[in-house]
Amino acid sequence: MVEFYEFTASDVPQFVSFYEKYLNSGVHVGEDIAALFDAGEYFGIKAVCDGECAGFLTLMEGLSLTIPHPEVEREILALIGSSRFVTVDAFMISPKFREKGIGHALCERVNAQLLSRGVDMFVVEIWVYPDHSSPALCIYEKMGQCLYKKELPGFYSASSKYGILCPVCGSECRCGACMEVIRIPS
Ligand SMILES: [Zn+2]
Repeated sequence: MVEFYEFTASDVPQFVSFYEKYLNSGVHVGEDIAALFDAGEYFGIKAVCDGECAGFLTLMEGLSLTIPHPEVEREILALIGSSRFVTVDAFMISPKFREKGIGHALCERVNAQLLSRGVDMFVVEIWVYPDHSSPALCIYEKMGQCLYKKELPGFYSASSKYGILCPVCGSECRCGACMEVIRIPS
């Protein structure tokens, strides 16, 4: 049975271990996330399957990209900068719990959480592997209306400069990203 809980401060250590395993190492440390959480600027949902942590979908206030891309940031801020919005920070599901609908269930719960916080827009940086596949590409557009979409090959090429190791490519990351802005139905 899968259960869903709001992300709490006590989830930070487990969240960080997921982050380092499935996303990257070097961007966030636990203290950063704990500080954002304490400031009320970090939130999300955790999925638990038969007592075991299965995944997370977390978000933070404002615009936050893994690697700075000033041109894209300017375009997004020109579009939605006068409104309140959040950015997806991490969407991770442990491999043994994939293909079970947990991702969609996390999205539905996050939609409800966003609306309860008075937010109806989010930015997401969707990871695109070197073979151009992207497991999360279609899931966000099901959450609402896509207001902005831009594919950015080589998005993470400067990642080693920021001390970020890619779990797929290592220090020479060839992954790209697709930036989207989604408005969820209120
Ligand atoms: Zn990579």
